[in-house]
Amino acid sequence: MILFFTLIATTGLCQDDQAAPPAARPNLFGILQENQTEVFVASDVSEETEQAVKETLAAAVDAWGSTGRLEYWVLGPDREAALELSEKFCKRRVARGDMTMRECMRDRFNKDHGFLSYQKIGADAVATGRPSMSAGHNGGSEWGFHRYSSSIPLGFAGLLDIAAEGDQLTIFHEYWHSVQQASIKAEDHQTRRKQMGPVWFAEGSAVAMAEITTERLWAEGKLKKWNNVDRPWPNLEQRMKSKMRIVQQKRDECDTILPDTYEGECAQLAYESGGWAVAYLMNKHGANVLLESFHPKVAELGWEGAFRETFGQSSDEFIKEFETFADLPLAEQAKILPKF
Ligand SMILES: [Zn+2]
Repeated sequence: MILFFTLIATTGLCQDDQAAPPAARPNLFGILQENQTEVFVASDVSEETEQAVKETLAAAVDAWGSTGRLEYWVLGPDREAALELSEKFCKRRVARGDMTMRECMRDRFNKDHGFLSYQKIGADAVATGRPSMSAGHNGGSEWGFHRYSSSIPLGFAGLLDIAAEGDQLTIFHEYWHSVQQASIKAEDHQTRRKQMGPVWFAEGSAVAMAEITTERLWAEGKLKKWNNVDRPWPNLEQRMKSKMRIVQQKRDECDTILPDTYEGECAQLAYESGGWAVAYLMNKHGANVLLESFHPKVAELGWEGAFRETFGQSSDEFIKEFETFADLPLAEQAKILPKF
C-alpha cells in the first residue's frame, strides 16, 4: 500500500508586516529549555491519537531541543468537528491579538492550508480506502509561534492498515521545520524563506533528520515501536533504498536531481534525493552538523554563506558531487547510512 505524504514547509500566511528591528525581538518564538508544544485535536480524534501526537512531539523536543511556542492542530475526518476546532483556533488568535475573527474565519477555507483542507484529506481517505495524509508547518512566526495543521494520522488512529511509525516520522519531519524556522532571526517573510535554503535542502534535511533520528530513538527504546500492522516496519536502509529507486526512475526526466521547487513532477526529488543529499552531508561532516554547525550560522551568514562555511564548498559544487554519488550502485550508496 502506498502512503502519499504531502509535507509542506512553506509559510502559508504571508503578511506585509513591517519588520521590527532585530534587537526588539531577539527570541521570536520565546524559546525556553522545556517542551513548549501544545496539541489541539478535533472532537472526532481519539484520545489515543492525541496522546500519540503529544508523545511523538515530546520525543522530537527531547532529541533536538525546544524551538519555542508550537501549536499542533489535528483535524479528523468530520466536517462539523473541523469547523468547531477552527472556531477554537480563531478565538485563540483573536484573544492573543494575532488576527481578527473575520480574517481567521476566512482562512479556514483556504484550500492550501485551511483547516477544512486537512479535514477533507482525512475524510476522502476514509471514504475511498486510499490512504492519504498531510501535515504542514504553516507559518505563525509573525505571531511568535510555530503553527501546524495535520489531517488525521491514519496509523495512530488505527485506520486503513497504516503503520503508526509513519506518523511518527511525519511528526519528526514537521518538527524539524520548526528547528529550521527557529534558527532564522529575520522577521520579514522574504528573508525567512531565503534562509530556509532551496527546497531540496529544506525538505531534504527534514527527511534525513527524521529518518535517521527516529531510527536511532527506536533502537534506543526512546520512541514507541507500534507494530500495529502485519507487515514489519522497514528499517532505515530499506526506507532510504526505496527513496533512491524513485530518484533513479525520475532523474532523467528532471533538469536537476536536487530541485528548488514545490511544483511539478520533479518536486518529489526535493524530498527523495534531498533526503539522500543531506544524509550524505551528515555522513561526511557528522550526525550533528546541522544542529551544531550549520543552523547556528544561518542568521548571520545567510543560507549559502552558512553552507560554504560548514561544508567547505558552494552548494553548486556540492550538487555536482552528489550527482556523482547518485551514479554509484545502490549497495555502495547504502554504506553512508548510519547503523544503530
Ligand atoms: Zn517538509
